[in-house]
Amino acid sequence: MKIEDLRIQEISREVRDGCQELNLPDSVLRQCMDKLRAQIDLGLNPDTRDKSTVKCFNTYVQDLPTGKEKGQFLALDLGGTNFRVLLITLNGRHFDMQSKIYVVPKAIMIGPGEDLFDHIASCLESFTLEHRVANKNLPLGFTFSFPLNQVGLKNGILTRWTKGFNCAGTVGRDVVEMLNAAVEKRKNTLKIDVVAVLNDTTGTLMSCAWKNHNCKVGVILGTGSNACYVEKIQNVIGFDGDKTKPYVIINTEWGAFGDNGELEFIRTPYDKEIDKNSVNPGKQLHEKMISGMYLGELARLLLVKFVKDKILFGGQASPALLEREKFLTEYISSIESDPRGVFKQCRNVLSKIGISDPTDQDCSNVRYICESVSRRAAHLASAGVATLLNKMEIPSVTVGVDGSLYRYHPHFHNLMYEKIPELLDPRIENPTINLMLSEDGSGRGAALIAASGSEHNV
Ligand code: BGC
Ligand code: MG
Repeated sequence: MKIEDLRIQEISREVRDGCQELNLPDSVLRQCMDKLRAQIDLGLNPDTRDKSTVKCFNTYVQDLPTGKEKGQFLALDLGGTNFRVLLITLNGRHFDMQSKIYVVPKAIMIGPGEDLFDHIASCLESFTLEHRVANKNLPLGFTFSFPLNQVGLKNGILTRWTKGFNCAGTVGRDVVEMLNAAVEKRKNTLKIDVVAVLNDTTGTLMSCAWKNHNCKVGVILGTGSNACYVEKIQNVIGFDGDKTKPYVIINTEWGAFGDNGELEFIRTPYDKEIDKNSVNPGKQLHEKMISGMYLGELARLLLVKFVKDKILFGGQASPALLEREKFLTEYISSIESDPRGVFKQCRNVLSKIGISDPTDQDCSNVRYICESVSRRAAHLASAGVATLLNKMEIPSVTVGVDGSLYRYHPHFHNLMYEKIPELLDPRIENPTINLMLSEDGSGRGAALIAASGSEHNV
């Protein structure tokens, strides 16, 4: 008997059956892809964009990096696991970066918008003072990883908050104007020049393309989830950028896919529970099935169900297991990093949430539950990437990927690497698809775009 078979025997039949609804066969993934493609096509046309859940915003970024970018740049990175301020020096192939992480207190994440931008300006001020560049009027690229309806390289209207942020008085306003207003209050010490606002997916694509010109897609699998890709301008109806250039990067904002019911045929009671308890119910439904902010909680809801059914831990939960958001997404990564049949990390995680002495059978079940949650996420993300690749119709593409989930989950890369080719249109001959981990897209990508958007790039 193979080790694999032994393992399957240890998983309780009830757990296997109960996780079945998270298992999406290729036929179902293809249905998701058809629906996603339909939303993308609606999003690319300004006349139908309002109806679409996948907005496909123009980023006004029309050139991939040349490798000749030069100069000193500031970058702000808001909207991932950390808020950071960065100072970046580009000089041909040489790249140097200093950065600092600042905390965004929960009260600011859901407080008045003015407080958020004041906080950002204050962090920027102390960082630039420390690095003696506060009054140099350096060009700044603002990586703002929320949906922005861009009307220029440095103008973006916030359309909604995601990922636990919800600041009053900001939706419908230009985030660069709000940043500039906060900086203006500190004009005696702080002088900067915001030359570009960008999404983290765009930063990721640019940062990977700086190393590998074949990179045409940028994906984030982190706290949130999203993708951008290089589109031909003739496919962007009413394109109002530089029409002499053939391409533009489109920020799909695929995290909102499903918000008009497109994913109801696969959403489970656990997905509905997560959504109900979130700060943005009914919104970002695709993201809530995929991204790091939600996967731990999804796994916890399944664990609790099986405890209640008396399949796990002898029917005994711990207080932490019953508390929302106490089962972190990083626990899933730890548990799945154990070699098959070994439960060292699994026991370690379970003891952190107050479950002592789980049986091997418990551990095997827990791992299976985690695998079911992360496999579904990886497969939905793969379906998204395959949809873009099928639309682009190019056989050889590098996909730049960043985000804490992709970076730290031990199998996410492999799951996607296997699944994407299975979902490609058979008419694409001899496809070669690479998934490239981005080296700090939000920082370096911001500098590269700032370089193209500023006269400082000489
Ligand atoms: C945001 C996107 C962002 C993604 C990854 C989503 O919640 O809407 O703009 O790219 O998270 O950070
Ligand atoms: Mg980030």
